[in-house]
Amino acid sequence: MLEATPKEIVERSALRINPVKTCQPIGAMYAALGIHGCLPNSHGSQGCCSFHKSHLTRHYREPIMAATSAFTEGSSVFGGGANLKQALNTIFSVYDPEIVAVSTTCLSETIGDDIPTFIRQARESGAVPEGKYVIHANTPSYVGSHITGWSNMTKGMVTYLSAKTETPNQKVNVIPGYVEPSDTRAVKQLLAQLEIPAIVFPDTSDVVDTPQTSNFKMYPKGGTPIPDLIDTGNSSATIALGTFTSEAAATALENKCQVPAQVLELPIGLQATDRFVQTLIEVTGVTPPESLNDDRGRLLDVMTDMQQYLYRKRVAVYGDPDQLIPLTEFLVDCGMLPVYVITGSPVGKRFENRVKEILQDTVPDAIVAANADLFYLHQLIKNEPVDLLLGNEYGKYIARDEDIPITRFGFPILDRVGHSYFPTTCYWGGIYLLSNICNTLLERLDRDAPDETFELVR
Ligand code: SF4
Repeated sequence: MLEATPKEIVERSALRINPVKTCQPIGAMYAALGIHGCLPNSHGSQGCCSFHKSHLTRHYREPIMAATSAFTEGSSVFGGGANLKQALNTIFSVYDPEIVAVSTTCLSETIGDDIPTFIRQARESGAVPEGKYVIHANTPSYVGSHITGWSNMTKGMVTYLSAKTETPNQKVNVIPGYVEPSDTRAVKQLLAQLEIPAIVFPDTSDVVDTPQTSNFKMYPKGGTPIPDLIDTGNSSATIALGTFTSEAAATALENKCQVPAQVLELPIGLQATDRFVQTLIEVTGVTPPESLNDDRGRLLDVMTDMQQYLYRKRVAVYGDPDQLIPLTEFLVDCGMLPVYVITGSPVGKRFENRVKEILQDTVPDAIVAANADLFYLHQLIKNEPVDLLLGNEYGKYIARDEDIPITRFGFPILDRVGHSYFPTTCYWGGIYLLSNICNTLLERLDRDAPDETFELVR
């Protein structure tokens, strides 16, 4: 299928082929779904909205609800103000959400639509009922990627909603980053295990992984309630998980409401989860229960047990930068060699320097690249092969072409199930992730074993 990919690597300045990223508003839409009672509105053409919705629907296998400003040729010339006001009028009168989260698109950004003014005018015209909210994020897709969209919309929640009062709430804000609903649920379970009162936002658990009840609910029970989002300004601290997805919101909250912020890496793997737990302990003064130590010990046990199959295995990892950083660290801790670490998001030196720092002692000649693509990764693999691919579904074409096993991880995964239900964050998530990696390698070992080494026990 990819037989035509040449081995020789030629420098490219503009062209991207299979870019390991997607459109900004997709991230914004996904973040908006993490507010309870929210209907995201894509401010652009119907085609954009359809793409955003269908991509999320396919990944989560849940119907994703979103509206559109439904641009026509006229909007392209005269701007989308009238469309947005009409859209808000229709949305509130027909679908009755608590809040609408508007994300812009390439077209509306190119026109230069002034969304805050449009929202104010819509409110003044009565299109936004009393007690309802409208927030927005600028998400031009020719800048950044889906993670930028997530970051911008999460920051928008703070800018529009967070407020400081005279009453501290004794809670900790946790911004979980662009992760699966299962990952956010794992973070909430860890907070509950430590008995820490927290506001987790945005929270897509129980929104894009709802149980089958035979009754359709336009607004599922999950999502961060609006009063909690407002209350984030009264919390004692904010812990932002993921530099590229969560830092902007945490910093905005610190500036707006003086809530001290700490930015950590996503709690993927042993060390990153340890740092998350340690920070929670320092911020709140809680004592971790024995059950948490047990969870940690189980992850360590799996890492030790499977060392013989993981040691010095060459891995190519690709995907979102906030996930790749702790993932790389975790793979190194398991004895593996992440020789290629590739993201399509244009996050530059900050990402590359951190990954190289992790790899400096074990894989000093690893190739780490941001704003790259899977075509480049394929070429690297053609020159020096790997034992495992670890990343989203799009790598399956390389896996097939080069006959390399692949473990799916990240966004999007449109051809398998499980990612929205089984976490890869925190200690239990680490066990699940490592099980997937090990089982993929063991499957390959069995497939390739001659009869004399085809063992019953591995
Ligand atoms: S036009 Fe822009 S916003 Fe719309 S789907 Fe394409 S990349 Fe995304």
